[in-house]
Amino acid sequence: MSGLTGVVLVINAGSSSLKYDLIDVESGASRASGIVERIGEQSSLAKHAVGGELHRQEGPCPDHGAAFELVLGAFDAHGPDLAGVELAAVGHRVVHGGAQFSAPTRIDDEVEATIERLIPLAPLHNPANLEGIRVARTHFPDVPQVAVFDTAFHQTLPPHAYTYAINRVWREEHRVRRYGFHGTSHAYVSRRAAELVGRAVTQANVIVLHLGNGASATAVAGGRSVDTSMGLSPLEGLVMGTRPGDLDPSLPAHLARAGISLEEYDRALNKDSGLKGLTGSNDAREVEERAAAGDPDARLAIDVMAHRLRKYIGAYAAVLGRVDAVAFTAGIGEHSPTVRAAALDGLRDLLGIELDPAANAAATSGEHRISTPSSRVAVLVVPTAEELEIAREAAEVASASHP
Ligand code: ADP
Repeated sequence: MSGLTGVVLVINAGSSSLKYDLIDVESGASRASGIVERIGEQSSLAKHAVGGELHRQEGPCPDHGAAFELVLGAFDAHGPDLAGVELAAVGHRVVHGGAQFSAPTRIDDEVEATIERLIPLAPLHNPANLEGIRVARTHFPDVPQVAVFDTAFHQTLPPHAYTYAINRVWREEHRVRRYGFHGTSHAYVSRRAAELVGRAVTQANVIVLHLGNGASATAVAGGRSVDTSMGLSPLEGLVMGTRPGDLDPSLPAHLARAGISLEEYDRALNKDSGLKGLTGSNDAREVEERAAAGDPDARLAIDVMAHRLRKYIGAYAAVLGRVDAVAFTAGIGEHSPTVRAAALDGLRDLLGIELDPAANAAATSGEHRISTPSSRVAVLVVPTAEELEIAREAAEVASASHP
């Protein structure tokens, strides 16, 4: 992707928020970024960061169209002047690309319709992503619009990794399989990890642990995702802020027999499980502080989270056969020496993973190698750069379709 130039507006539209970042692709620098929060509520909040200053504006914002007007208004009021920027592309984060999209894709009416047909697979995310696409296409009809899918990087999963052992009708008619998410982050971090250990991307085997509010682990062999912990939806796998990760599949039936409705079940698994379910808080930093002060629920939560991480690291070492690096990223992965140490505890003899405690403790921002010099596997902290990755992929697609 080297040699790319231009400025890309990255849009990440959630159900009640619209995040944006105006990125200079060549330097990787953000020219301005911001978020409109609480879309659809009585009073929303817009924040626009430019030139080291943060501008805030509160007011009504009924829908994503109105949110986009606020964003354009913030650019008008505080700069940079969008009319003076020749946009190479607008890059849209789209959560679910199903089995249809294995690469970033220039958006036209047909692509938009396909993303709409994928709504049953991502009912919480794809409708909001589509809103973002629609308002941006209306406002910038002449700028290439590119969809960058969370799932695309994982389309290289082999059938034995993406197939659930369930009946054909569910697999084929209902498209039930493992898709995987956080793809832009796993792609970026695994590439960076290969660079940091001095291997060609095609020669590096990396386990990426993306630990934010959502969390997922991916086994990357030679630049290709070969297994990942999130599945049909972003609920499977690791313990997360409000989601449980792996569960016994009999749980819905078990709870239904106890009178719990499907809506209640869905809500609890998306919003009230994981760290929140175990401790009442989905904020890992708070849970760590409480654990350090002796709170037994918080201690258990950290132990459950770390145990799940160890299991996945062991499983993905078996999937990969050889591991060159384990890379931690996202809020918890980048900032929590405690969780990193707990996740790798006891893996020295089995996997040759040897953490350097001082390097781990010191690594709370930026890129770091936190393993000992004699560790067989490099342990890395690599800050994720999802917006930059989306901007680069969008610029690449736009330049390929408009030489
Ligand atoms: P999102 O998935 O929403 O982008 P982030 O990647 O920002 O989330 O991660 C948010 C999580 O990171 C929260 O649980 C937060 O408590 C945690 N986190 C941030 N800083 C620290 C820290 N210094 N120590 C422990 N956890 C932290």
